[in-house]
Amino acid sequence: MKTVILTRLGMLTAPGMPTDLVTSGMVREAELRAEDGKALITVHVPSDYPGNPEGLKQLIEEHLASIEELENLMVVLTAERAAQPAEAPRQPPKLKKRPTEAKGRDMRPHAAAIPGISNVIAVASGKGGVGKSTTAANIALGLRSLGFRVGLMDADIYGPSVPRLLAIEERPEITEDVVKPIEKYGIKVMSMGFLMDEESPVIWRGPMVVTALMQMSREVDWGELDVLVLDMPPGTGDAQLTMAQQIPLQGAVIVSTPQDLALIDARKGLKMFKNVDVPIFGIVENMSTFVCPHCGESSHIFGHGGAEEDARRLGVPFLGAIPLNMQIRETSDAGMPVVVADPEGPHAKAFRDIALKVAARLFPEEDED
Ligand code: ADP
Repeated sequence: MKTVILTRLGMLTAPGMPTDLVTSGMVREAELRAEDGKALITVHVPSDYPGNPEGLKQLIEEHLASIEELENLMVVLTAERAAQPAEAPRQPPKLKKRPTEAKGRDMRPHAAAIPGISNVIAVASGKGGVGKSTTAANIALGLRSLGFRVGLMDADIYGPSVPRLLAIEERPEITEDVVKPIEKYGIKVMSMGFLMDEESPVIWRGPMVVTALMQMSREVDWGELDVLVLDMPPGTGDAQLTMAQQIPLQGAVIVSTPQDLALIDARKGLKMFKNVDVPIFGIVENMSTFVCPHCGESSHIFGHGGAEEDARRLGVPFLGAIPLNMQIRETSDAGMPVVVADPEGPHAKAFRDIALKVAARLFPEEDED
């Protein structure tokens, strides 16, 4: 079936492009997966693509509709950065920030609820490498250990790390009209990493991100979930802002190292969510103290550890501090986060405490008695 699909795509030229989808490299053979009546096609849209990417998706779907044995098709659009962007590519209109005069009013009806999912929370950071994904995975698993039905969506398109964090090597199955998330350690997981080749990083434009994310959040068979934890891409650029607007978020958790909070990065994250009226559930200080495994002495490698005070000054709750610890790194990198690897240990407890605070915000009535 792969050959049939490729042949068909080789006869289709995207509007405004000089050659067909295969010759132009927009569809690469290695990234076309087809089996048992199901196909997943990744389409690389060049940064100077003159047409409407959404229209292209539809065009491909229509073009392949007559292949009888193809029962289910998923087309995912990705965008690559041009070496030298000559001029701004034509894009669907950018989303505007919500007007400030609307402050206080819930402006989130645009972000339509995802069927079956009661709550979506974002785990975000002002910059990369602060342990956002590690925290997101451990919060998700912590919520699971508290008895909630949990999903983890790795939306870190720039460096999806959840497949590695949870040692997931298989690819999701496509059934009916949806993609089945992978189940691991009792949670349902979906990652952009499942759709991308790890070796060739993809740079996305805002609208692409929305398309891919909407597909990932809505065309995935999550079933019934109490909480979907969204591992956001690091930073506070357009893509993150768009996600914060387009996904119906109940709240956001900001992960920061002590010096990142003292500097400005984490504050930008706070501001971004405030701008789009998403409540900040609080700040997690990661890589807080370092306890020497040999002498037991604590050192503040990334600063004085005053995040709690900083959080108070910024008017947001402090959710907890996670130490810089070898076991956290080793378990994360070995594909079994510490909440699962050592559930009785102090680090698992620290993450579970954070998960409990998140749950208390999501389900306040269940916390009362
Ligand atoms: P981000 O998502 O912010 O880029 P990751 O969660 O991928 O960060 O973490 C980056 C690296 O730091 C990983 O190797 C991870 O294992 C390690 N790491 C994260 N948190 C801790 C911690 N508290 N102690 C030790 N290593 C950590």
